[in-house]
Formats: sequence, structure tokens, C-alpha cells
Amino acid sequence: MNFAHSDNATSLIARMQSFMQEHVIPAEQTYAAQLRGGADWTQWQQPPVMEELKAKARAAGLWNLFLPEDGARLSNVDYAPLAEITGRSMIAPEVFNCNAPDTGNMEVLVKYGSEEQKQRWLKPLMAGEIRSAFCMTEPEVASSDATNMQASAILEGDEVVLNGRKWWSSGIGHPNCKVLIFMGLSDTSADKHQQHSMILVPLDTPGVKIERMLPVFHTLDEPYGHGEVSFTNVRLPLSSIIGGLGRGFEIAQGRLGPGRIHHCMRAIGAAEFALELLCKRAIQRVAFGKPLAKLGGNADIIANARMAIEQARLLTLKAAWMMDTVGVKGAMSEISQIKVIAPNVATQVIDAAMQMHGGAGLSDDFPLTALYAYARVLRIADGPDEVHRGLIAKLELKRQAKRLGISN
Ligand SMILES: Cc1cc2nc3c(=O)[nH]c(=O)nc-3n(C[C@H](O)[C@H](O)[C@H](O)COP(=O)(O)OP(=O)(O)OC[C@H]3O[C@@H](n4cnc5c(N)ncnc54)[C@H](O)[C@@H]3O)c2cc1C
Repeated sequence: MNFAHSDNATSLIARMQSFMQEHVIPAEQTYAAQLRGGADWTQWQQPPVMEELKAKARAAGLWNLFLPEDGARLSNVDYAPLAEITGRSMIAPEVFNCNAPDTGNMEVLVKYGSEEQKQRWLKPLMAGEIRSAFCMTEPEVASSDATNMQASAILEGDEVVLNGRKWWSSGIGHPNCKVLIFMGLSDTSADKHQQHSMILVPLDTPGVKIERMLPVFHTLDEPYGHGEVSFTNVRLPLSSIIGGLGRGFEIAQGRLGPGRIHHCMRAIGAAEFALELLCKRAIQRVAFGKPLAKLGGNADIIANARMAIEQARLLTLKAAWMMDTVGVKGAMSEISQIKVIAPNVATQVIDAAMQMHGGAGLSDDFPLTALYAYARVLRIADGPDEVHRGLIAKLELKRQAKRLGISN
């Protein structure tokens, strides 16, 4: 295994770190002050400072770094430390045009989009001029199993007609969100993995209705939001179908190519930041005549956090290295392993940091509750832990049975 950074990545790491210190971190308070929240999501606005930061990041060449096909052409091993750096700030991913679900949607269009689709949607997405949403999950079915999706995408003459209800459509409340990718059943008689299709839907198409925004840990996550969306006789030309009918499942699998572990990389950055805050507090705050670091089992808590982060980072890099060397298919077990480990380590470390801060850790004076919510959400939003464990066990049993020459 070789996790050494290329010269290009080494230079990008230094530039990204100084950009974060110089521009992103100091802008966080302005961003929060400019954010217009509230239950009426139609009033949400893009904080102007975000557009200023995006322009600066683009000019600095720190733009679309996630996309292997374009620009920096980074390997997964090289992208990992860059994504980790952005894990320190909730606003950083958008600044560098590297935030979900746009990253996955752009990858879909790069891989499966027609020329027309690329011109109309990929180009402005890559320029950061518009945002997008991904509508797969449905309230009525267990959506951790993508074959369960019930919403329909049926051919009628020279149109495809969409019906159904989706939820947890992240980013759909953003004022710049102009398009979504809808996954629907197009042929129930086909093979289980060829029944679904993916359709590009302009957000202002008649029949698309955002019913509400779902709160997560008591916040609406504005200006992005997570919408429940109904589709009623939504009619679109056949040119809206991505890659051809029946390829929805294949695209859903391919959608998260390299993007599969972006969140893991970022979760390590969130954990690292939480440990930094934890240590600062433990050194500076005194109780019962001693710094907190010297009280009770706090030294063990610090040591355990450091060990857990190192293990998680190494496994993230191993998964990235395997994706680079043997491809996503050969790295399936490692990808699932890190998807369980990274958010779990991050939640544990952030939780310990909140505890070390006492009441302050639960306030908005520190970013810990936001970091915690981000990491905790991943244990479901990036696929439930249990589903990943199921795959790891299945692959392990297969491998062991083959090695032992026994049937499984
Ligand atoms: C904040 C947030 C953002 C999201 N963003 C998006 C988005 O942009 N687009 C989108 O389409 N979806 C999005 N999702 C949805 C997310 O992908 C789903 O919630 C997830 O796939 C689980 O589906 P489900 O909620 O239907 O849970 P279910 O499938 O009902 O599963 C519920 C629970 O059952 C258990 N379980 C399920 N399968 C197994 C198994 N095989 N073995 C053991 N236990 C199991 C697990 O404990 C699991 O958590 C988001 C979710 C959240 C919370």
C-alpha cells in the first residue's frame, strides 16, 4: 500500500489549508448572520458571502477537485486529505463546489449523460451556477433497499410520465436548486435490477411540488433543506432519461463511484477538529485545582480519540487506495467498512468533545453540535450501518468459504 501524496496533491493540501484559514473560517460568522432561516423555505436565500468565497476558490484553482475526469485529476488517495480539510467547516464543501448531492449528480452526468444533458445541466453545475437534488428515497418503502422504489416513470408516446412521492431530497430548498434526478419504476416485468430509470427533472416542471422541508435534529439545514416532494403526472421529453430506460439501478450504483467515501474523508476532518477543540478546552479549563486534562479518566479519553482517528484515517486511505488500484468493485468490503467506522468514530470523538466542554459544548458558541449532527446523520443517510455490515459479512463469508473450499 502506498498512501504518499503526489506532488500535485501536496501543493493542493497546502493551498487548501491556507485558503480555509484565510477565507473560509473567518467567513463562517458572516455566513450565519446572512442566512435567512425559518419555516417558510421559499424565503431562503443564498448568503452573498458564499458566492464571494466560491469565486475566490475558483480563481485559486480549488474547484471541482472531487471530479477525477476534470481539472485536477486526483486519485482517491490524493483527494482524501483535501476532503478531510473541508470536514472542519460546514460551509466548506460548497465553497469548493464539492458538496453532495451535486458531486454524485455531476458524476452521473459525466458518465451517463447525453451531450444535450451535459450542456444544459452539467456545465452550470460544474460552474457552481446552479445546484441539484437527488430523489430516490420514498416515505412508503424501506429505501435502504433501492429495489423497493415504487414511484413510476412510464413511457407514454414521446414523453415519460412521473408519479410518486419522495423524501429526504437534500438540497432541494436551495434557491439555486434548478434540477433534480428522479428514480422511478419504468418496467415491473423486467429483471429486478433493470426495472428502474433515472430522469432529469427541471424543478419548475408542472406537477412537481415540494410539500415540506424535513427538520434534522431540530434544524431545517437551510439554505439546502431536505424536502418531501410529490410528483403528479409530471411530463417530460424522452431526452430527459439518463442513459436509457431500465438503467436506474446501474446508475445508482455507479453514481457514488469515487464519491462513495467523500463523507468518510470529511468525517475524519470533523473528528480531528473536535479533538483539537477538546484538547484546547482540557488544557485551558481548570476544575478542582487542575486542568480538566488531568482529572479522572480524561487522559484516556484523549488517547482513545487519537487512536480511533488514526485507525479510521488509515482505513479510509486503504479504501481509497483500493479504489484507485483495483476499482470500486474490488474495494466493496473496504468501502462498506469505512462507511461504518468513520461516522461512528466521528460521533464518539465529537460526543467526548461536547462532554469536555460542559454546557458550552451543547451551545452554538462551539461548532460541536453541528459536527455531531453531520456525523450522526451519515450513519443513515450514507446507507444504514447495518446494511454495510451485512455486505461486509457476506463478502467475508464468500472469501473464507472459497479459501477453505467449502460451500456457503
Ligand atoms: C439528512 C438526510 C439526508 C438524506 N439525503 C438523501 C437524498 O438527498 N436523496 C435520497 O434519495 N435520500 C436521502 N436520504 C435518505 C437515506 O438515504 C435513507 O434514509 C436511507 O437509505 C435509509 O432508508 P430508510 O430511511 O427508508 O430506512 P429503512 O430502509 O426503512 O431502514 C430503517 C432501518 O432498518 C434497519 N435495516 C435496514 N436494512 C437492514 C439490513 N439489511 N440489516 C439490518 N438492519 C437493516 C436499519 O437500522 C435502518 O436504519 C437522506 C437521509 C437523511 C436522514
